[in-house]
Amino acid sequence: MSITRLEVILASTNVHKIREFRAMLKENQTLDIRSLTDFPDYLPPEEIGKTIEENAVLKAMHAATALGRWVIADDTGLVVPALGGIPGVRSARFAGNDASDLDNRKKLLEHMHHLLDDDRCAYFECCIVLASPQGVKRIARGSCEGSILREERGGGGFGYDSLFVKHGYSKSFAELEEALKNRISHRRKAIDKLAVILESLSELSP
Ligand code: IMP
Repeated sequence: MSITRLEVILASTNVHKIREFRAMLKENQTLDIRSLTDFPDYLPPEEIGKTIEENAVLKAMHAATALGRWVIADDTGLVVPALGGIPGVRSARFAGNDASDLDNRKKLLEHMHHLLDDDRCAYFECCIVLASPQGVKRIARGSCEGSILREERGGGGFGYDSLFVKHGYSKSFAELEEALKNRISHRRKAIDKLAVILESLSELSP
């Protein structure tokens, strides 16, 4: 029996994020995952939401409407409670609008240099939105708690991975095998919550 496959566009051009999604969804026989790298003329919206969820919805609906396709959008933030919750929704632009991941990590370390170990707790918050051109179909969240190192460790991962050690682990996310990060991350937890609907997506009406 042939399987009906459905194309879903991942609303990102971040090669690391795209690789993680592909790896985590590779068991799913019904999805053909593409990304915004296949749509070079598409201009994503400015991320003006006040929360991670607002930005995820914004990214998902903008792309679903403009491309006329099913879309998955992910917005993630790193939250440091001892800093009042920053960088949070501003994680991507923490060190400025055109900041690189390295700029953002350096700024985070500067802000945290005075904090003792007990105050270096942090968590990733991930919100994934599944949308069709007709509207948002599902929202799933996942978080991952850990602490922030005093200096970078590891060459894998992306974003703040080289500064983040999940509780119960001794290696940073950038030191872990990618497959292990993908089993324990905030993104994994959010994707697991979407798994059931993603399995049956080809049966849903638009
Ligand atoms: P966005 O969700 O792509 O907007 O990313 C927000 C910020 O969080 C960017 O600085 C990313 O590099 C960072 N980020 C997103 N996901 C992860 C992750 O899984 N690990 C570490 N940093 C991440």
